[in-house]
Amino acid sequence: MSLYKDEAIVLRTMRLGEADRIVTFFGRANGKIRAVAKGVRKTKSRFGGRMEPFSQVSLVLWQGRSGLDTVTQVEVIEPFRGVREDLERFAMGQVMLEAVDRVVQEKEPTPRLYTMLTDALHSLSSTKSPLVVGGFLLRLSGMAGFAPSLDRCAECGSQASWFSPPQGGAVCDRCRAIDAEEVGSGMLQLLNDLMIQGAWMETDKETTGIAVRLARFYAEYHLERRLKSAAAADVLVVEQ
Ligand SMILES: [Zn+2]
Repeated sequence: MSLYKDEAIVLRTMRLGEADRIVTFFGRANGKIRAVAKGVRKTKSRFGGRMEPFSQVSLVLWQGRSGLDTVTQVEVIEPFRGVREDLERFAMGQVMLEAVDRVVQEKEPTPRLYTMLTDALHSLSSTKSPLVVGGFLLRLSGMAGFAPSLDRCAECGSQASWFSPPQGGAVCDRCRAIDAEEVGSGMLQLLNDLMIQGAWMETDKETTGIAVRLARFYAEYHLERRLKSAAAADVLVVEQ
């Protein structure tokens, strides 16, 4: 048992009894951290509003034996108030936090993903474009080991105009499965730019809507599958 420090984003919080909370953090050095914040819900708490979702904080934690650590000190680095206090941005930011929560493991450092999330939250503070979320989800899928092919057919490498998450992204007319969706090569190009360069481009509302829907569809399909296979692996370990 010992004290340790980390810099983290608050992913979610849960009530624990009258005054405490269990906070799930995404730490730069420690991956997912679940910790008890004592007295956080008292009005004069020294933690006050510092542990709301999206807050980027500097933490000192006490590592307990139970797998549930205890927050002993917290300082706000960046509250991301602009994301938290705007309904649309909050909803978009929430999609990113939930996706990260699914991917990040406890005590597994993923500093690149940490930087990617803080960058995306900064972007979301200065724009309301849902493309920020679309680009983030495509990159996250890549980091989790499911990088989509978007500039050519995932099966044969030729020009593509269809989209199929189970097949790995873009697919051509010959390779497409029955449930692939025809999206056009321009949309695939947009998704590819989003993944590689980020959400700098301006598109009309309809195009933006389709791009974000496809990115979410792709990320949800693969992250869900990954979760299920991780759960299956746990079952196997228990049975042995
Ligand atoms: Zn093909």
